[in-house]
Amino acid sequence: MPEAPKRIVIATHNTHKTGEFRALLGPDWLVEDLTAWPELPVPVEDGDTFEANAAIKARSAAERLAEGVLVVADDSGLEVDALEGRPGIYSARYAGPGADDAGNRDRVLAEMAEVPDGVRTARFRCVLVTARGGSGELAGTCAGAVEGRLTRQAAGSGGFGYDPIFVPEGHERTFGELPPEVKHSLSHRARALAVLRRQLEAMAHG
Ligand code: IMP
Repeated sequence: MPEAPKRIVIATHNTHKTGEFRALLGPDWLVEDLTAWPELPVPVEDGDTFEANAAIKARSAAERLAEGVLVVADDSGLEVDALEGRPGIYSARYAGPGADDAGNRDRVLAEMAEVPDGVRTARFRCVLVTARGGSGELAGTCAGAVEGRLTRQAAGSGGFGYDPIFVPEGHERTFGELPPEVKHSLSHRARALAVLRRQLEAMAHG
C-alpha cells in the first residue's frame, strides 16, 4: 500500500502562498491552509521582524489545531535598498489597510520613480516557523532570500504580490513573467523550504 501523505497546515489565508508550498513540497505532502478553519481568529502581527511575525502566526494556529498536526507559518516580504529596506514586514499592507497587490506595487514604484536603474536593488525574504499542533510549541525556524532588482513598471501575470516588478539576479524578466518552475528553483520561499523540508521529514518520521 502506498504511504499516506505527510500533512502540514500553512498558517495563512493567502492561497498563492499555499499553492507555492504545494508545488515545492510535491505529492508526498498533503498541504492545507487556514481557509479550512474559518473559525480560527486571525492574530495581530505586531512583531517587528519577519521571525517574530511568523512565530505569532505559527503559535496562534498551532494552539488551536489538533495534536500531531505540523503547522508552518511563512512571513515574507520585499526589502528595497533605496527605500531603506521598506516595505519589509509591511509588504502585505504597504498601500494602507485593505491594500491589494496592485496598490502595494504602485506605491513602491511611485517611491522609486526617481531612483536610477543601477541602484534599484531589492530582495525577497522569507522566514518559516514551525509549530506543533495542540501545544503550540515552536519547533524550528528557517530563512531564505533572493536578490534582484525592481523594474519601472509591472510585467507579467504569474505569481502574486510584488512578483511583476521583481527581476531575480541572473534573469532579465520578472517573477511575473518567468515560468513558475524558475521562481520555484530560486525563490526566497524555496530556499527557506529546502532547509525546513529536512526538518519536516525528521519530525514526521520521528
Ligand atoms: P505576509 O503574508 O504578512 O507574510 O505578507 C507577505 C507579503 O509580502 C505578500 O502579501 C506580498 O506582498 C509579499 N510577498 C511575499 N512573498 C512574495 C512572493 O513570493 N512574491 C511576491 N510578493 C511576495
